[in-house]
Amino acid sequence: MLRSYKFQLRPTVGQAQSLGEMLRDHCSLYNGALEDRKGAYKHRGVTVSYRQQSAQLKEIRAFDPERQGRWSFSSQQATLRRLDAAMAAFFRRVRNGEKPGYPRFKPVARFDTVTFPENGDGCRWDSQPGHADTRVRFQGVGHVRVNQHRPVEGVVKTISITREGGRRYVVLSCDRVPVKPLPPTGSTVGIDVGIANFLADSNGGFVENPRHAKVGADRLAAAQRRLASFPRKKAADRSRRHRAAVEKVRALHGKVRRQRLDFHHKTALDLVRAHGVIAHEDLSIANMVRAPKPKPDPENPGGFLPNGAAAKAGLNNSIYDAGWGGFISIVTAKARCPFKACAGRTMIPVDPRNTSRTCPACGHVSAENRPDQPTFACVACGYADHADSVGAINVHQRAGQAHRHATPA
Ligand SMILES: [Zn+2]
Repeated sequence: MLRSYKFQLRPTVGQAQSLGEMLRDHCSLYNGALEDRKGAYKHRGVTVSYRQQSAQLKEIRAFDPERQGRWSFSSQQATLRRLDAAMAAFFRRVRNGEKPGYPRFKPVARFDTVTFPENGDGCRWDSQPGHADTRVRFQGVGHVRVNQHRPVEGVVKTISITREGGRRYVVLSCDRVPVKPLPPTGSTVGIDVGIANFLADSNGGFVENPRHAKVGADRLAAAQRRLASFPRKKAADRSRRHRAAVEKVRALHGKVRRQRLDFHHKTALDLVRAHGVIAHEDLSIANMVRAPKPKPDPENPGGFLPNGAAAKAGLNNSIYDAGWGGFISIVTAKARCPFKACAGRTMIPVDPRNTSRTCPACGHVSAENRPDQPTFACVACGYADHADSVGAINVHQRAGQAHRHATPA
């Protein structure tokens, strides 16, 4: 099995500079090769191939030993291949009758990845037992420390360096990763997004919203208020303090996103470890995220009656904040993935309509079953529970019904 790993790099100041230069020089190689292809086509009507460009590399390196001769030959070939793939995609779309844009020159600030097609050729993964002092060696940069937070399994095939915001990462793509399925479990569960909690399950369990989500949201809001207090200006006219405020918002956004992703992965892992079948609301038919139709007011032509749009918009926001859709896709990926931590678990999407208003005991559907947000109390039979749990129980029950209909005894 193939698998990739991504670890943050901890370069020294000098190494960080060299890594920046590596990206810069690969960017100029990419742009030069694009220029070459453009010119040949425009002036001579011919198409330049990857093979032809790769054959010129030796000359280019000899001509500019400071900036091109310094880096790995193979990584430069990989960059030329990237251009080749962009050109191939362009011509494919032209043939299909689409109107694609011609591949563009890449600004150096947005050229963020260099790939080494083979471990040991221009770069070397150097993992230590217990990975306390793991490093990766890049030609022209040196032996860079790696924050290796998990063991790497299988055989390291390709290595990439990539830049995201101010951080740099190494991405390993490994082959022959051993498959270790999780033991089967007979447990089935329904899950639902909660109001007070991140998640509720049909067994009455909750996963609380992580504390850092609130802290992060508050800090981000404060940074955004501060940014908004500056007059609107073009980037070039911004003061030093204004730029710092922009940078602060950007950094906090990144942090909130990373923490949320980490939380989603851990929560998803707990679910697929514990349960063989996981039922959830089918988000593709969840019209909760769609705004309700406007309701014209018959007494006041041109006016509209309240249609619950504001309340719904509030719910939509909190769902997006929690990233529920992203979470479900992470659980689904883990449930299908055949690796160690995951197994052939089954996900059952169910119709999400009225899951929060239906009584799990008697089936009575009414908005009155919800006297207030956190409470469910059936007006027909008196069944009462936490509203978050009721949603999850209904999801679980619907999955059972769907299952029975799909597989007649
Ligand atoms: Zn009831």
